Amino acid sequence: MEIKKLAQLLLWICACLGSQAWALEIAVAATNVSVSPLVEVLEDPTHALSWEEVSAPEMAARFQPQSTNGEDFNVGMSASTYWLRFRLQRTTDTPNHWLLEVPYGNLTSLSFYAPGQPAVHTGSLFPLASRPYFHRYFVFPLDLEETPADFYISATSSYALTVPVRLHEAAAFAQKEHRDLALQYLYYGSVLALLLYNLFLFAGLRDVRLLLYSGYVATFGMGIYAGNGLGRLVLWPDSPRFDEIAQGALLCLATVFAAEFARVFLKTRSRFKVVDKLLLSSAVVCLLICAGLIASMGSTTAVSLLNRLFASLTVLTVFIILVACAKAWASGEREVRFFLLAWFALSLGGLVAALRAFGYLPTNGLTAYALQIASAIEMLLFSLALADSMHTERERMQQSLSAALATQKKSNDMLHRSEERLERTVAQRTHALSEALTSQKETLAQYVRFGSLISHEFRNPLAIVSGQLSLLRKEAELGTPRWEQRSRVMLAALKRLDALFEQWLRKGRLEGSLETIHKEPIDLCQWLRQWMEDNALATDHQIRLELAGGMHTIWADPGLLANALGNLLENACKYSPIGTVVSISIHRRPGQVGIAVADEGAGIADDQQQKVFEAFYRVAPEGPVNGMGLGLNLVKRIVEAHMGEIELASTLGQGSRFCIWLPHEPTAAQEPSTCTATAKPEFWS
Ligand code: ADP
Repeated sequence: MEIKKLAQLLLWICACLGSQAWALEIAVAATNVSVSPLVEVLEDPTHALSWEEVSAPEMAARFQPQSTNGEDFNVGMSASTYWLRFRLQRTTDTPNHWLLEVPYGNLTSLSFYAPGQPAVHTGSLFPLASRPYFHRYFVFPLDLEETPADFYISATSSYALTVPVRLHEAAAFAQKEHRDLALQYLYYGSVLALLLYNLFLFAGLRDVRLLLYSGYVATFGMGIYAGNGLGRLVLWPDSPRFDEIAQGALLCLATVFAAEFARVFLKTRSRFKVVDKLLLSSAVVCLLICAGLIASMGSTTAVSLLNRLFASLTVLTVFIILVACAKAWASGEREVRFFLLAWFALSLGGLVAALRAFGYLPTNGLTAYALQIASAIEMLLFSLALADSMHTERERMQQSLSAALATQKKSNDMLHRSEERLERTVAQRTHALSEALTSQKETLAQYVRFGSLISHEFRNPLAIVSGQLSLLRKEAELGTPRWEQRSRVMLAALKRLDALFEQWLRKGRLEGSLETIHKEPIDLCQWLRQWMEDNALATDHQIRLELAGGMHTIWADPGLLANALGNLLENACKYSPIGTVVSISIHRRPGQVGIAVADEGAGIADDQQQKVFEAFYRVAPEGPVNGMGLGLNLVKRIVEAHMGEIELASTLGQGSRFCIWLPHEPTAAQEPSTCTATAKPEFWS
């Protein structure tokens, strides 16, 4: 069908070659035909010519064919009135009712002259009622004759002056309209969806870029809506003056939003200072132009001038943004790629639209809607750029958050470790302090015990001596002094005092001698026999020496051993009734030889058995038996100095058994053993 139409058109063109003015013959098969190839043009800069004048035969030669390649008539921005002339006819079998369409809304005034019909004066500044056909562009019904007839159009514009001329068969026009409008509303629907989506996102995320982007989408979409003539038709039908500036003012605002969006998105304020100032300036100038357009509503010349200024500024702004994008891209910012692509797409669309407007590109569906298509792609890419940028920012934030968390964890660990160290140190110090305190308390307790012992043990004999002396004086005054009796009592008291001093001094002496201990091998049986002979004690007890058979050699200091054994034997006699048995026996166990001293005396309570080894400790300090509580402490210290140990087994009312265990051969450095008290040691049977 299309090929057939093209063939018909070519045949018609060939037929007309050679004639002075070509007539377009419309055949029955034609539906939508571009008249542009046939259009001849006359410029009227004065706006003074009338149809009668331009249609006069003498003016015919001044009309010039406007296009050699069949493109729509287009002179860009122009303040002149242009007259277009074209000749039409139809074949016999073609219907005569047709529609002539000028599909461009920005024509301030447009007049159509058909032969034999009244002229139609309309345009964007005219009321809608002036349009013979209710349409966003300009559509004129016309009747074609079989003979050629000349048709005229005069037009002015405050934008680019382009006058495309199409001839449509009525039904085909309706079909084309449906298709066009469907595509148009698809575009506006997409713009509205993007707008709402990003406004919702802004409501949640509060990111100013989303708001600027939404502002851009809204104003640009509305600008295109106004430019396509839909604004006038639907939104402001009775405001032709506003309609004239609506597209320019809205696109000015779109440029303001775009410049601000680019400034925030590319962070130009902190990084590209010159670019930032340029973008800010162009945004301010665009705002001023917008204000100027609103102020100059009604003045076609001013509007035309401001539109030209705005067109140049938009090109400059887009160029600056592209430079900023390239700089950001060059500095390694991956996230600007969609932003750069978006502006590149819009620039390409703008370039295509400009080239079409200036006649360098043919007018077709693609070039006519190039800016609209490019803007749809641009808006989509902007949306992607925003999502990509937010994603990258979130990733960066997460990275820095994890780094901060790691640092915090590290410092927490360090803090924890130092706390633990501090706790350990505090525990050690507390322990040392408590030990010092205990030892201090112990020392204090020792001194208290010593004080009471002094008062009890030392003062008693002194009191006895003092009492005996005063009795002796009284008796001497009476002349009956009992010298012998008194001196015996005093001597006994002084002996006791002497013994106490001796014991005390012995402790002090022994403390020094324990540091320099002289060990030697001692055959224990022989040594014990000798010791018993040397210390033939005057005692009222039965002392038994029970020596086991065989050699029992120990490694000890004989002087200290004698001291320890002497103390144990003395205690056994002191704390058991007269006449009872006190035994000294020898025992063996691996590596050690034991010397046990057992008595049948009062015994020591379980809870006292550890304490009796402390210095100055006595079970009954005020009891009838004299002592300073130093004997067992000394024995324990002597045994420990020999790397041995002392055991105590005692039952109240039955008796006590002390056993000192000493190494039976020389031992290298060993830990000193502590004394132990067991209720029933192995030898206690
Ligand atoms: P002292 O005999 O001078 O009081 P010691 O250090 O020798 O001091 O003895 C400490 C305490 O142990 C004594 O006061 C006594 O109560 C108790 N003790 C020591 N040996 C015996 C023993 N064989 N039988 C009962 N009690 C004893």
